[in-house]
Amino acid sequence: MQSTSHTFKDNVKTALADEHLRKALGNMKAGFQDKRAATIAKLPEFEALRDQGKAIKDDVLANLDYYLERFEDNVTRDGGHVHWARTPQEACEAILGICRDTGARVATKGKSMIAEEIGLNEYLEKHGMTPVETDLGEYIIQLRHEAPSHIIAPAIHLSKEQVSDTFRRSHKHLSADRPLDEPRDLTDEARTVLRQQFVNADVGITGANFLIAETGSTVIVTNEGNGDLTQNLPRVHIVVASIEKIVPTLEDSAAILRLLARSATGQEYSVYTTYSTGPRRPDDLDGPDEFHVVIVDNGRSDLLGTEAAEALRCIRCGACMNHCPVYGAIGGHAYGWVVPGPIGAALTPGILGVEEARDLPNASTFCGKCEEVCPMKIPLPKIMHSWRIEEYDRGLTPPRQRFGLGVWSWVATRPRLYNWLTGLAVRGGHMIGRRRGSWRWMPLAGGWTAYRDLPVPAGDGTFQQLYARRRNRGTAGDGK
Ligand code: SF4
Repeated sequence: MQSTSHTFKDNVKTALADEHLRKALGNMKAGFQDKRAATIAKLPEFEALRDQGKAIKDDVLANLDYYLERFEDNVTRDGGHVHWARTPQEACEAILGICRDTGARVATKGKSMIAEEIGLNEYLEKHGMTPVETDLGEYIIQLRHEAPSHIIAPAIHLSKEQVSDTFRRSHKHLSADRPLDEPRDLTDEARTVLRQQFVNADVGITGANFLIAETGSTVIVTNEGNGDLTQNLPRVHIVVASIEKIVPTLEDSAAILRLLARSATGQEYSVYTTYSTGPRRPDDLDGPDEFHVVIVDNGRSDLLGTEAAEALRCIRCGACMNHCPVYGAIGGHAYGWVVPGPIGAALTPGILGVEEARDLPNASTFCGKCEEVCPMKIPLPKIMHSWRIEEYDRGLTPPRQRFGLGVWSWVATRPRLYNWLTGLAVRGGHMIGRRRGSWRWMPLAGGWTAYRDLPVPAGDGTFQQLYARRRNRGTAGDGK
């Protein structure tokens, strides 16, 4: 995927001006946060499961070469093929090569973020293939030539009216006066159109939620059943997955599955969980004749041993973005790459480089909610902080910001001066803004007030001064 992370600030301006996006993002609390909270409340061992999930992935990352080789041995033993790809180009070439060897022209696809990352659709189209997305959200954005804006809900930025317009423009062979006002109409139409594509496809390409080292199996979870049709109907099944998707055993995948759907959509389990092991055997009723797994690195192994390595525990549930105030304001496209939100801000600089993605780790309030909800206990703020330090150390921070940070650091390390200046600012700010009750513009910090008013300080001192006064009165810490 072509990154636009380097134009993050411009992307944000576009996102903030998009009324459809504002409305769509407004539904996220009921759609994701409340459902997750309700399902987790019914599972007393959720915290213990988080610890178990973290331990499984920490073991995997410490022994990645061993588990990957074991996975390859088991895939090969069952008649499948493993293809190693260091770069997106190598991965795309491997997949195109398999398609050409089988004479394929049409490939159905299940939802796969790594396929988005390597730009697979564009590559296949450029070489005469027709890739057809079969996940409803991915299908919609493919018709619109857009990138996903969320890792589990790729078309979350669109209203049903926009989807209806897209279908009318794209499905010209269907009656112009058909009803397309309700979500059910849209789903039925997509199902009808895609059904024929499932039958036509020569190759099915899916991602993988897990690769199981002990059996050589791949696992996908979906709510639409499109993944099963994608991998079972065509003659050839290609799985594309990144290296960190490996887990040691079937039991490990079952433990993490209990975290995944609850954290993602608030379901106890996704509707379909499918384990695939090798090609069809002589007595199998269905399944592909060929089974290929393309395992992609794309910079991940360089992250091992760095502060960002813990981001490789990610199971792509989306909980961090569902709870992020920044994602909730700007949506996913502004991040400019396939993985948005806090995990995008933690991972993208490691994959694309700090030069390309240096704004992303700065787009965080460090409220900590992302780490709090992450089922794999990834310290996202700590990783973003480490990228900020690298940005500063490598001289990539803009001079004005660098100067400001220098002044701040000088003042903040002199407590008496800091207290005096902040006290002055609070009182001065109160006097200047008390009539209006809020500031609409702040010198040197216009970005803060461009989209919001800032309430004026109460004027009776800084937090530390108030605390000291209360402590002297003996009321500090009593909640008053
Ligand atoms: S970082 Fe954690 S919360 Fe975010 S997508 Fe990955 S596993 Fe889910």
